[in-house]
Amino acid sequence: MIQRILVTGGAGFLGSHLCERLVADGHDVICLDNFFTSQKTNVVHLLDKPNFELIRHDITLPIHLEVDQIYNMACPAAPGHYQFNPIKTIKTSTMGSINMLGLAKRCGATILQASTSEVYGDPEVHPQVESYRGSVNPIGIRACYDEGKRVAETLFMDYHRSNKVDVRIVRIFNTYGPRMHPFDGRVVSNFIRQALSNEDITIFGDGQQTRSFCYRDDLVDVIIRMMNNDSGFIGPVNIGNPDEFTIRQLAELVIELSGSTGKLVQRPLPSDDPTRRRPDISLAKEKLDWSPNIALREGLTKTIEWFQSINTDDYRPPTPNYS
Ligand code: NAD
Ligand code: UDP
Repeated sequence: MIQRILVTGGAGFLGSHLCERLVADGHDVICLDNFFTSQKTNVVHLLDKPNFELIRHDITLPIHLEVDQIYNMACPAAPGHYQFNPIKTIKTSTMGSINMLGLAKRCGATILQASTSEVYGDPEVHPQVESYRGSVNPIGIRACYDEGKRVAETLFMDYHRSNKVDVRIVRIFNTYGPRMHPFDGRVVSNFIRQALSNEDITIFGDGQQTRSFCYRDDLVDVIIRMMNNDSGFIGPVNIGNPDEFTIRQLAELVIELSGSTGKLVQRPLPSDDPTRRRPDISLAKEKLDWSPNIALREGLTKTIEWFQSINTDDYRPPTPNYS
């Protein structure tokens, strides 16, 4: 059935792919974005589609729309971006979630929250299961993002329990792919950009910390599946690729695939940087019949090709005047 779908943060890395898929599936898609960490180039190819609309708006302010489904993807996601204006980051997850939940309540829409593995902080439980309550430093430099996303989950559950809003919560683990912001400071974008210009590859700390990287197509598949599951399963559910790599292994693979002559160099580890991260995806397998298909080597190859095709001048740093 054709749905009227709002994607907040729809011009971002994941949001723009989601919009693309929903438009191709024939839905009526409204992409809402304040362009804090993204630019129109990500969705410009959709602008001439009759079932696509673009609105410049900030979710910390209310908006009146009529929709059937809302994917709440708006929030800066890379540490460098969310620490750029930390107060704005918290406002986006808290005031923004309240506004979007209010909209869902008025319209009777289903609303999905893009939560994060960061709700587990620097985890003592490995791999991370949904029942683990996490280890977040509430006063650290990652807290504006981690605690904001934790409050957002609370708001989603309370709107569900108190106001019968139909919610879904997905906890997304590190996801990469074409259209990542080349200057977002995330490890995949940094390493590829550095490798392609034969610069030093900057490993923070000793590079023994781990992450598990999911290719964006696998991610988009499962969030659409989660939104449309009508079994009563609302989450939270972990979504990510459980193949775990050290950051040093990632750097070596990027060098191999790009043919870079860049050298590995060590830089100080930022504070509160999680030591290990890997999703337990048993729940996603059981409830959504989903597991990722694209291995890191294949996904990185496609991502490197995309980085080779872009003009990085099209990508500007975040604008400081969002408050
Ligand atoms: P992104 O920065 O590319 O996209 C976020 C988008 O939200 C951008 O287009 C930005 O301009 C927009 N935005 C930010 N604040 C806004 C506001 N107040 N009002 C309107 N728009 C606003 O990041 P992404 O990687 O595509 O992440 C999308 C969502 O997925 C985020 O909520 C993020 O927390 C979540 N997530 C992503 C990852 C990942 O690895 N990519 C992991 C966990 C969770
Ligand atoms: N990292 C790194 N070099 C970089 C950027 C990041 O070694 O140039 C490390 C970072 O310290 C962290 C991991 O890579 O341990 C993943 O960082 P990212 O910012 O991509 O995501 P997050 O820490 O939020 O998982």
